[in-house]
Amino acid sequence: MAKYQCPECGYTYDEVVGHPHEGFPAGTLWSQVPESWACPDCSVRDKVDFVRLEESSDAALDLSVAPRLAAAQTSQRSEFRQ
Ligand SMILES: [Zn+2]
Repeated sequence: MAKYQCPECGYTYDEVVGHPHEGFPAGTLWSQVPESWACPDCSVRDKVDFVRLEESSDAALDLSVAPRLAAAQTSQRSEFRQ
């Protein structure tokens, strides 16, 4: 998942959020957005003009949905050797 920003007005398209008002439900990839799509805010820039942003928030997102394997590995064995 990535974000793309309009260089004209600063509008940001987030693949995670999508843009339901424009007909793109949450999770719609940038590659699925039509090439003829224009910025919904300024209508000046087209899809090709958008700039990809750093994926800084993806790590946090993955952590929130990943199963907590660490918790399952905390089972401790108490073995007594003599
Ligand atoms: Zn714009």
